[in-house]
Amino acid sequence: MKAITITSNSGPDALQLQDAPEPSPKDGEAIVRVRAAGVNFADTLMTKGLYYGAPPLPFVPGYELAGEIERVGTGVKGLKEGDRVFSAVPFGGYAEKVAVAVEKLLPIPRGRSFEEAAALPVNYMTAYHALYVLANLRPSSSVLIHAAAGGVGLAAIQLAQLRGARVYGTASRSKHPFLLSRGVEAAIDYRSEDFEQRVGQLTGGRGVDAALDPIGGWSFVKSWRCLAPAGMLVCYGVASGSGGRLSSYRSFALSGLFSPLAMMLRNKGVAGFHLGLLPQELLAWEMSELHKLWDDGKLAPHVGRSFPAEQAAEAHRFLQGRESVGKVVLTF
Ligand code: NAP
Repeated sequence: MKAITITSNSGPDALQLQDAPEPSPKDGEAIVRVRAAGVNFADTLMTKGLYYGAPPLPFVPGYELAGEIERVGTGVKGLKEGDRVFSAVPFGGYAEKVAVAVEKLLPIPRGRSFEEAAALPVNYMTAYHALYVLANLRPSSSVLIHAAAGGVGLAAIQLAQLRGARVYGTASRSKHPFLLSRGVEAAIDYRSEDFEQRVGQLTGGRGVDAALDPIGGWSFVKSWRCLAPAGMLVCYGVASGSGGRLSSYRSFALSGLFSPLAMMLRNKGVAGFHLGLLPQELLAWEMSELHKLWDDGKLAPHVGRSFPAEQAAEAHRFLQGRESVGKVVLTF
């Protein structure tokens, strides 16, 4: 079978479609014939050696997949060949076949595509954890979402709107019409406008109840300053440090320190998380809540573009070039 392997730290060209051994299912596992695998911004950092917690080279990336059950290991009940399933996996999703523990597999709702299923786990769990668990969003809340037209961003818009919250989003200008069509109150071009000033104007000086920031560096500080009393800044990425080692150090150095005293006196909070390091029970619960919402037709993962697996390098260039809207997926 074929798998896409990261072979060096040379960027997108480090992705090579290679032969890999056929997986065989252990007890309690099933082999999924993958039809679609989600591409995440984190994967692009892995090709540059900039991702904390990546395995040693060479390795197969890929945090999520959707496909059909090809065969099951001993002791597996309730799943059969041909069942359509999707899952989050620790790594290894960019492959034609993957062995997955059956308790991590979920059925794809009727009428939904493999691409949509592969677009759901990482983006929606990230948005769910940030908005519902950490920021405790309420119906009257307002939220500032950075990279709002991206995979996580669009998931966050849907979940925020589902709670009845108002959304302000930052994005490159070409994506603003799309964001406005999605019901965002205002789209802010972070490249030509000062988003902190715009949020001040848009909220009459009050600020927002939550800010979702995967940009890092100075953006964390400005997002904190956008918060209304009792607001929560959720930090979950450092896209501003993705240019290379130097920009990565710069981004960390500029991220700022948040003093507990300032948090107490201003009634503002800061939270951060790394999905890959959250407890499995919490992730499983979040995933099952999201599965129910999707099954009920309350979520609609937006696949912006899908690429055949052999064009994985192209898919990465597209994502890291800030061109994508919604999710990028690979098809096998
Ligand atoms: P994405 O948002 O679909 O793509 C990245 C987008 O970020 C770009 O299209 C670009 O859109 C925006 N961006 C803003 N500043 C950027 C910069 N300096 N360099 C590159 N892009 C920049 O990607 P995603 O996979 O959904 O992930 C979004 C962010 O969440 C990433 O930073 C990722 O690392 C983070 N994340 C964290 C976790 C976690 O567990 N902590 C989990 C998932 C994702 P605009 O120019 O239109 O804004």
